[in-house]
Amino acid sequence: MLMTGAQYIESLRKLNTRVYMFGEKVDNFVDHPMIRPSINCVAVTYDLAHDPQYADLMTVKSSLTGKTINRFGHLHQSADDLRKKVKMQRLCGQKTASCFQRCVGMDAFNAVFSTTYETDKKYGTEYHARFKKYLEMVQENDWTVDGAMTDPKGDRSKAPSAQEDKDLFLRIVEKNDKGIVVRGAKCHQTGCINSHEHIVMPTQTMTEADKEYAVCFAVPSDVEGLFMIYGRQSCDTRKKEPNADIDLGNKEYGGQEALVVFDNVFVPWERVFMCEEYDFSGMLVERFAGYHRQSYGGCKVGVGDVIIGAAALAADYNGANKASHVKDKLIEMTHLNETLYCCGIACSAEGYPTEAGNYQIDLLLANVCKQNVTRFPYEIVRLAEDIAGGLMVTMPSAVDFKSDTPVLKDGGTIGDVCQKYFKASPVASTEDRQRILRFLENICLGSSAVGYRTESMHGAGSPQAQRIMIARQGNIEGKKALAKAIAGIK
Ligand code: SF4
Ligand code: FE
Repeated sequence: MLMTGAQYIESLRKLNTRVYMFGEKVDNFVDHPMIRPSINCVAVTYDLAHDPQYADLMTVKSSLTGKTINRFGHLHQSADDLRKKVKMQRLCGQKTASCFQRCVGMDAFNAVFSTTYETDKKYGTEYHARFKKYLEMVQENDWTVDGAMTDPKGDRSKAPSAQEDKDLFLRIVEKNDKGIVVRGAKCHQTGCINSHEHIVMPTQTMTEADKEYAVCFAVPSDVEGLFMIYGRQSCDTRKKEPNADIDLGNKEYGGQEALVVFDNVFVPWERVFMCEEYDFSGMLVERFAGYHRQSYGGCKVGVGDVIIGAAALAADYNGANKASHVKDKLIEMTHLNETLYCCGIACSAEGYPTEAGNYQIDLLLANVCKQNVTRFPYEIVRLAEDIAGGLMVTMPSAVDFKSDTPVLKDGGTIGDVCQKYFKASPVASTEDRQRILRFLENICLGSSAVGYRTESMHGAGSPQAQRIMIARQGNIEGKKALAKAIAGIK
């Protein structure tokens, strides 16, 4: 079944998801003005799958059932599938200018699929078959799934079991013949409230002393004992203003991050995919992070496309579009953005099959991709702010532009004053100029900056996490040997 965006939104209403914001329970999260834009954003991943022009990117034949499914639920079967994943993400970024959240589940499916296969081979466990059954259900229902990895971590100098509070990493607190009980939390969970399910994975390589933390499982969003506390965003309460529109910059779409708490949650065995096999935690983390670092070479590039377009429009509306330095800045922004895309495509093109049969990206190139993503979007927004001009942060509210309060000696209103002094070049209306500058404000400093800037820095792992992987994969010894051979060193 391929859900439409509207069906997806309705399906969320059927869940009994427990959400808290500003210290209170949110009874109807689906229609909450601060949450709804992030739901609309996930809905785009459903609607695009029904658009014939995107069928090849958005849909694919399931390797498990042979049925047509949304690519967000797919196990990549080739390097071509990996490339199409990146292109799909660029497309979704272009349509929303936001984080559309559904990729974390897709990246978890592929990492858990291959890791469970190799775990079973060593231990004779049955995780892989269980996971395949679970994924068939996900594909059949076209669910959005949260891929939950990051633990709170407490004192970063200490291992999970050495923490003063043992719950600072999510762990198994009980095992019985029916399943396991887990306690802990996962931080900055992208789209967790908008997900039907959560796949929980360990956050780092575990040792034997930390084996109770080597756990992977899936639970529904409304499972007993699970709740979420909404992560607020810069300027988020603008969304609660009556008739909020222009001042939001991006009224329709947005991202979502929250804390997910597991308060002694029971998980039946058929939903458990790792239980104390600590020597496979590193593999799962590395593979999931690798896929998600590839993902950023698609989604952030799509958002970058919209930012470049917005900066070019701002230049048009300011009458500055013919200035050579403006043209050059747009070239620089394009160069940076396409470099990110090159990385996303390259690590996909170099993909290879895992033992389980699905395709894994090239780890070194995916880490280089994400390392660039921790830098280039910052330069892109710097250039966008440069082109936009200071008005992007000094302009009166949209209410002022419509105000009929008289202020001029001749009876002219606040609205008249705003229209007169914020007039655009002849190619645009004052309102269009307002709209594009507010869009840039939102993406550079407002609620969307969470998704384009800080998420680019820390999402899919902070810069240092990629540098560790680059150090591991960089083969410095091999490079020394090359230099020695040419320099004649024995
Ligand atoms: Fe998808 Fe990008 Fe959001 Fe990650 S940051 S969930 S890859 S849109
Ligand atoms: Fe992310």
